Amino acid sequence: MSTETLITCAKAAATALIAAEDEIEGLDRAIGDGDHFHNMKRGAEVVLTVTQEMGDKPASHVMKAIGMKLMSTIGGASGPLTASFFLAAAKADGVDEDWTTTTAAALVGEGVNAIQQRGKAARGDKTMLDVLIPVAEALADGAAKGTAGAEIAATVKRAAADGVEATRNIQATKGRAAFLGERAIGHIDPGAKSCAVMSTAICNALFADEAGGHP
Ligand code: ADP
Ligand code: MG
Repeated sequence: MSTETLITCAKAAATALIAAEDEIEGLDRAIGDGDHFHNMKRGAEVVLTVTQEMGDKPASHVMKAIGMKLMSTIGGASGPLTASFFLAAAKADGVDEDWTTTTAAALVGEGVNAIQQRGKAARGDKTMLDVLIPVAEALADGAAKGTAGAEIAATVKRAAADGVEATRNIQATKGRAAFLGERAIGHIDPGAKSCAVMSTAICNALFADEAGGHP
C-alpha cells in the first residue's frame, strides 16, 4: 500500500537527517541563522507522528495532513516550503495506488513545482531547489524511459550530490544567505544539503537490495 511506502521513506529520511545534524547545523550557521537543522528535525518529527497516527489512511490524506501540520508549526523558510511540497504531492496522479517510478516522478514533480511557486526561486539561486530540481528531473526522465527503479535511484543520488556541490561557488539570490552577497561563496547551502541527505536515504531504503548499496 502506498502509505506503507510513505512511512518507509519518512523513516529513512528522518534517520539520515538526524545523523547529519552537525554538518547541516554548521552550514546554516555559516550562511544563515543556524536554525535550519532544528526546523527540519521538527518537520521530520511531524512527518513521523502523522504517518504513524494515520497509517491506515490513503497516502493522499496523510500527505495533506502532514502539509497542514508543517504549515502551522514549522518556522523559517523551510517550514512553508516543505509544507507546500506535501500539499501538492498529495494531489499527484496515482498517489493512492501502489507507488511506481511514475508515481514517484509525479509526486516529486508536483511537490518541487509547488516549492518553486511558493519561494519564487529557481535553479542557481543557491537553495534546496539546486538539489530538488535535478532530482525531480532525474525521476521524470527515468520514469518516462521505463528505466528500472534501482538505476533511477543511482541517477537521483548522483544528481543530489552534484546539486549540493553546485551551490558551493555561487552567490545566493534568495533566502537569508542573499544578504551575505559574495561572502556566501565557498559555502554549501544548508537546505540543499538536507534535501540531498534525505533523497539519498530514500533511494537507499527503497532500492538497497537491488542496487547492492548501503545507506
Ligand atoms: P531561514 O532561512 O528562514 O532561517 P531555514 O534555515 O529553515 O530558514 O532554511 C534555510 C534554507 O531554506 C536555505 O538553505 C535554502 O535552501 C532554503 N530557502 C530559502 N529561501 C528559499 C526560497 N525562496 N526557495 C527555496 N528554498 C529557499
Ligand atoms: Mg535558518
